[in-house]
Amino acid sequence: MAIQNLFYSVNFVHDKLYTAGFNEGEGNFQENNFGRGGFALDSVSAEAQDGSGTNNANFSTPADGSRPRMQMYLWNTTVPNRDGDVDSDIVFHEYGHGLTWSMIGSMSGCMSGAIGEGASDAVSILLNGDDVVGEYSYNNSNGIRRYRYTNYPLRYNNLTGTSVHSNGELFGAILWRARERYLAAGQSVDQLLSDFVGGMKYIPAAPRYEQMRDGMVQQAGGATGGPTSRGCMLYKTFAEYGVGQGASGRCTSAGRWTVTATTTVPTACR
Ligand SMILES: [Zn+2]
Repeated sequence: MAIQNLFYSVNFVHDKLYTAGFNEGEGNFQENNFGRGGFALDSVSAEAQDGSGTNNANFSTPADGSRPRMQMYLWNTTVPNRDGDVDSDIVFHEYGHGLTWSMIGSMSGCMSGAIGEGASDAVSILLNGDDVVGEYSYNNSNGIRRYRYTNYPLRYNNLTGTSVHSNGELFGAILWRARERYLAAGQSVDQLLSDFVGGMKYIPAAPRYEQMRDGMVQQAGGATGGPTSRGCMLYKTFAEYGVGQGASGRCTSAGRWTVTATTTVPTACR
């Protein structure tokens, strides 16, 4: 049952991300690329109930054409244990690491690593339509993060550099808030997913938060067209969390963040 469920979830997230822009030419994971570019023979090796760890999961992403490996673990925070294989939050999160490593690259280090964690959470919360990650596996209604993503309380200048999972929450929060804005404006979650995934084509390797903003805004048509254009909704959402016009952040070798946060929105979006 665990293997069947994992097989289904991995194929589900493949198909959703394919529609959003993570296709053969972008280095996705397929046995056969049907002549559409990229390298084939790299379907995901997804390992259910892998015994090499507990209370976690991981995903390694080699170059396009080599097989990624997803290792899913049991969670022993309950009796009986729970199985991450049947928790699509965990499966989608792990697959999200393959997405960002393939489409952006160099998602390690204290800032890009954090963004990678947040982007993986974003895949889970957007596909599941739920603002909490891993609540089943962890047996906690607030999930494995410090806060729910609705009304997330922290901002860009609150990040400390000490934990990629904690410092990535901001990105998950931004995408959840963008979802609220899109739905309020009559846009769909699939459209947001396309702007998120498609934007990665414009984002340089080892990105900072500002570069995530700029890539997504570019994919969505730019910061123009008034407050409810998709590009402006994205820009306003990043700005709401401190990643506004003129914001900049970097992470020192000691794992400390130096951030200038602003909530400024371009004139064309006001
Ligand atoms: Zn992760």
